[in-house]
Amino acid sequence: MLIELPCGLLKDGIIYDRVNVEEIKGKQQNYLQNVDMVLNNFGHVPKLIEDLAVDYQTKEGLPCSIPAKDAVWLLPTEDIEVILLKIREFTYGNVYAMPTVCSECGKQQFKKIELNSLEIKPIADKKVRTKILHLPKKNVDVEVKLLYLKDLFDMFAMMKDQKTSLFTATVALSVLKIGDKSPITKTDLDDIPVTDLQLIEEVYMGLRGDVDLQITHTCDACNKDYQAPLPVMDPLFFAQSVTPIT
Ligand SMILES: [Zn+2]
Repeated sequence: MLIELPCGLLKDGIIYDRVNVEEIKGKQQNYLQNVDMVLNNFGHVPKLIEDLAVDYQTKEGLPCSIPAKDAVWLLPTEDIEVILLKIREFTYGNVYAMPTVCSECGKQQFKKIELNSLEIKPIADKKVRTKILHLPKKNVDVEVKLLYLKDLFDMFAMMKDQKTSLFTATVALSVLKIGDKSPITKTDLDDIPVTDLQLIEEVYMGLRGDVDLQITHTCDACNKDYQAPLPVMDPLFFAQSVTPIT
């Protein structure tokens, strides 16, 4: 089924933001059951997208010449999330029983989510992928960028490495350039004042699309509201729901 991506591929000034998304077939089910591939390394994500998001094209239907296996690495993370969401929807239908844990009382429960009701807003300008801003305290220009699939893999690696300071590490992924220095590592941010770092985060949030995968649930046990993100990167997101939905 042809869907619109919130960002799309950008090549030679042309936006390819439509793609055909297909359902999971036997070949992909094999990836999802390959323990080495899915456990802790999210190896199923590029494989599913490479196989099941095909024929990138412009709004007018002009085809993109980038092969699917390369395209996956050029898609901003907002597009990755939307494609994964649509793969689940087209494979098993619109209703998903989302496993959650209440952050207030700890009760585990399943929540019924209608996948096609999630709001997917395109980014403000699909041709703008970076933005330069001046950090007032550090007195330097930085170039902020969208995050891509490789950045997500770097982030997962950092989360596994307990020694890493997560805050500067994740902010660093959205910085393309500080002054003339590029690429950036987290140590480049060590002596940047925190209010300057918050400015970088703000600009990044303004640049990115608004695919809101945070869902507010009301707890069955304590009746309080809590938030949990739709787990689109989890291999179990691509399993059929067998649990009764409350
Ligand atoms: Zn609760």
